[in-house]
Amino acid sequence: MDAQMKALLEVQQLDMDMAKIESMMRDLPVKRLILALKMREKEIRQLLAEKEECLRTNELRSRRLNLDLAESRSQLELLKKKLYSGELKNPKELAQVESRCESLKQRADALEDEILNLMLQAEEVAAETKEHRGQLEEVQDELQGCLAELDRTVKRWRREMRELQRLREKAQASIPPSLLATYERMQAKGQGRVVVEVRNGICGGCSVGLSPTQLGKLRKGGQGVFCEHCGRLLCLAD
Ligand SMILES: [Zn+2]
Repeated sequence: MDAQMKALLEVQQLDMDMAKIESMMRDLPVKRLILALKMREKEIRQLLAEKEECLRTNELRSRRLNLDLAESRSQLELLKKKLYSGELKNPKELAQVESRCESLKQRADALEDEILNLMLQAEEVAAETKEHRGQLEEVQDELQGCLAELDRTVKRWRREMRELQRLREKAQASIPPSLLATYERMQAKGQGRVVVEVRNGICGGCSVGLSPTQLGKLRKGGQGVFCEHCGRLLCLAD
């Protein structure tokens, strides 16, 4: 085979190898996994933020209720002192203070119940927060592992790409610029394998027999001979 056409076939093979690596780099499964993990991480962070907000609200409400409770209790103490001091002689006034004491006591009981409920709720939220933190840690560990794997793969493929590129430059040096330009123009149109070998007078691209004219040109060592059926650039196989 013509050495220049041989070099062109080599260039084509190297281009196909590089295209394959580039396509694999685009569609790496680990990239999808990283995306999914990042979304999960975001979701958990969102949940954690909600739980933290819930704990803050709970804490504020609980503080306010405790103040109310202290206030009710101190008022109750004052009234009780008054009640047992014997200074209240008037039965109507006495009954009023007793009723006031009773309602303060009820108020304090209700506040205590609510404070207890808030404490239970806070414990529950704290347990959920702990669980989410654990999940977040797991997701982050997995994410780190995936990122490291992606990094290793990308570095390895970049090395391979550099090597293939080096081989291509070496091979293309022996191809006439016009022939290389023709190949690259056809390649740029996305026509896939654009240079094919002819064996037994048959085009390796479309399997159709060449006309005697085309075959004659090839046998005379002609370059830039195209298949009349599929349009591919032809070279004679050894
Ligand atoms: Zn053909």
